[in-house]
Amino acid sequence: MQASGGTGKPATRVRPSPALSPFDDGDDATFNRFSDRIVHTIARRVPFRTADVRLDKPIVSFSFDDFPVSAHETGARILEDHGARGTFYAATGLLGQKRALWTIAGADAIGDLHDGGHEIGLHTHSHRPSYMMDRRQFVADLAANRAALRRIVPDLANETFAYPFGLSGLVQKRSLGRLARASRSVQRGLNIGRIDLDFIRAYELTDRGLSREELDRLLDETAARVGWLVFLTHDIAETPTRFGSSPALLSASVEGAVRRGMEVLPIRDALTRIGVS
Ligand SMILES: [Zn+2]
Repeated sequence: MQASGGTGKPATRVRPSPALSPFDDGDDATFNRFSDRIVHTIARRVPFRTADVRLDKPIVSFSFDDFPVSAHETGARILEDHGARGTFYAATGLLGQKRALWTIAGADAIGDLHDGGHEIGLHTHSHRPSYMMDRRQFVADLAANRAALRRIVPDLANETFAYPFGLSGLVQKRSLGRLARASRSVQRGLNIGRIDLDFIRAYELTDRGLSREELDRLLDETAARVGWLVFLTHDIAETPTRFGSSPALLSASVEGAVRRGMEVLPIRDALTRIGVS
């Protein structure tokens, strides 16, 4: 993500782009120190693991962060209605909690989605931004996340990860080489050619942030360049939060992908297509 409008002065509180960061969902996490913002900016530019995206068919992936009850009850159903599956990133410390913006799905939803063929991914246990934890804390937090998910879904393996709030630090990103198959960021962009496996690019799928014209343009470009387009969203509701999508926008996105002959795959399966083990 792009940190917005910093003044460059040390100790400035730089609020990450509100369009990308539901910080007000019970967390008051910001770049408290100028150095944290620099660390994130460097981290997203330094690749440790890369892959070449060469595909026979363009791919679209839908991912749901946190994830609210509505992502399970409505989001998954919309994908399934089109024969597709998605990726659901769970911060296990929040399971079942009623938060300011939404109620987070519980363990039953995770089991149900897994049984339905969807991907369950890591999103930390605490849902703290990675850069706020030192390496040891980050590794322990991710281990707790993985252990909690595997208690619910014992056959989970080789999980992918999504950075809470899209934020990272260099040591945390480097650690992910041993902790996750690949990691999804909130950095906007298509995944085409050489990609950073620890910073897979994604577009927010929100009614507030993505017009139908932009959606069509993104799908057209992905199809024309035979790339991999990843969406991230949160709640799926008739009146979504600013971090979520209406059922109509999600349906239009899936239908638009299918109409263009694109494959709709969880991030897990897209990585397999790309040749990432
Ligand atoms: Zn999150």
